[in-house]
Amino acid sequence: RNYSGTFKRSQLRLEGVKDVIAVASGKGGVGKSTTAVNLAVALAIKCQLKVGLLDADVYGPSVPMMMKIDRKPDITEDKKMIPIENYGVKCMSMGFLVEKDAPIVWRGPMVMSALVKMTRGVDWGNLDILVVDMPPGTGDAQLTMTQNLQLSGALIVSTPQDIALLDARRGANMFSKVGVPILGFVENMSFFKCPHCGEPSFIFGKGGARNAAASMGHNFLGEIPLEVDVRKGSDEGIPVVISAPDSAISKAYGDTAQNV
Ligand code: ADP
Repeated sequence: RNYSGTFKRSQLRLEGVKDVIAVASGKGGVGKSTTAVNLAVALAIKCQLKVGLLDADVYGPSVPMMMKIDRKPDITEDKKMIPIENYGVKCMSMGFLVEKDAPIVWRGPMVMSALVKMTRGVDWGNLDILVVDMPPGTGDAQLTMTQNLQLSGALIVSTPQDIALLDARRGANMFSKVGVPILGFVENMSFFKCPHCGEPSFIFGKGGARNAAASMGHNFLGEIPLEVDVRKGSDEGIPVVISAPDSAISKAYGDTAQNV
């Protein structure tokens, strides 16, 4: 059944899910998945909300590794997948369904139907917020997700670098075009604080995402520094908001989650 285009946005609600927010970036590699994961966990642990995390990055799913989930979901009697919970967040990812190192070599229509199954074919239960880690870019897959879900808003992740911001602006404009409100910009890898002298270095430029948000009339939700603990958290499957809950970096994620 093809949902796209044939339903009004108000008819696209996911039963039991209050708000669905997309975490998007124009470019890959800017930390979209890392931000989605840490925000989802911060929303669950720090803001005490019922949170789901949908990894819609079908070609490069990161959630299984970042959330340390290494099994397939169980199925309900009415053939819905049961999301797998870790760190207080109910997760669903294409990565749960395929072998770890297997390439996903699908053509567009298969990706679209997988995305629809991963949203509507899942028993999410009651959620305050479903965080969707979107595929990078502004192509078919992104449009399918925006057309199949009643998104409450989109959050745009970018580094401060001009080349990343160019694509981030494109991403923001795509959402605006299809009537999805932009919740705001999050700047990732804002600066690197030297562990020896404490001096910040603005490796990718200073304040780029804040300025881009301001120039487009969007909110700025927070800045996340480049930090080894964030990278370690992703690789080890323990998000930094769990492994170092009282650190400055966790506070940055917590504040950003509050702003969302
Ligand atoms: P994307 O989803 O945009 O492709 P990822 O979230 O997968 O990007 O991040 C790319 C890489 O950068 C990952 O290895 C991740 O661990 C690392 N990374 C992301 N954000 C940070 C950060 N703030 N500090 C350190 N490493 C980061």
